[in-house]
Amino acid sequence: MFNLVVIGPPGTGKGTHSQMITGEYGLVHLSTGDMFREHIKMNTATGLVARRYIPRGELVPDRITCRMLYRHTFIPENIRGLLFDGFPRTLNQALLLDKMMTHRDTRINLVIGLQASKKDLMERIKQRESRRHRPDDALLVARRRMEVYEEKTSAVMDYYRAQGRYEEVSSAAPRKDVFRCIQRIIHHYMNKKPTTGISG
Ligand code: ADP
Repeated sequence: MFNLVVIGPPGTGKGTHSQMITGEYGLVHLSTGDMFREHIKMNTATGLVARRYIPRGELVPDRITCRMLYRHTFIPENIRGLLFDGFPRTLNQALLLDKMMTHRDTRINLVIGLQASKKDLMERIKQRESRRHRPDDALLVARRRMEVYEEKTSAVMDYYRAQGRYEEVSSAAPRKDVFRCIQRIIHHYMNKKPTTGISG
């Protein structure tokens, strides 16, 4: 199995690139943001909790998030791998994910961190808001999501970087160029031993 994490601040194109990657490599796409939106739509107990955090741009507590993910992550036979989109976002989630993967006799092979300037990110969020009306894309909330990302998720990047499983990709270039860069990294990691990293 080849398991991947895709993280990045809001507006960085995480969802789009995750879909492109899962399509290309036949991975199962697990997006905690999508799961929460579905729970909210279906008015489940998890949805009720998520509704208290998502509209304010805050993270849903780790316990709720991990429990939800754990329930969704049934690993069928003959699967090529999993792609976690928007998870982990805290160090605690990263540690729990490692435990969960070990428990299932597998591991996270690669973490891709998408990056772009704040100006670009706010611009993309503004465009998405006008197309899709996601309530948490409102300007003030989007700013808060960005702050939360810097406060909480930088520790996740440091954690994976220290283990040689983290690669940063700028999402400023046209989508197909960004994807090509991601593919190059994936191919490299698919063929390498677990401990060393590449630069660029
Ligand atoms: P974005 O990355 O643009 O914020 P997502 O769809 O990934 O969009 O997430 C939307 C919201 O769902 C987040 O702002 C957060 O409130 C919640 N959420 C998603 N993933 C997590 C997670 N791993 N931990 C806690 N909250 C999460």
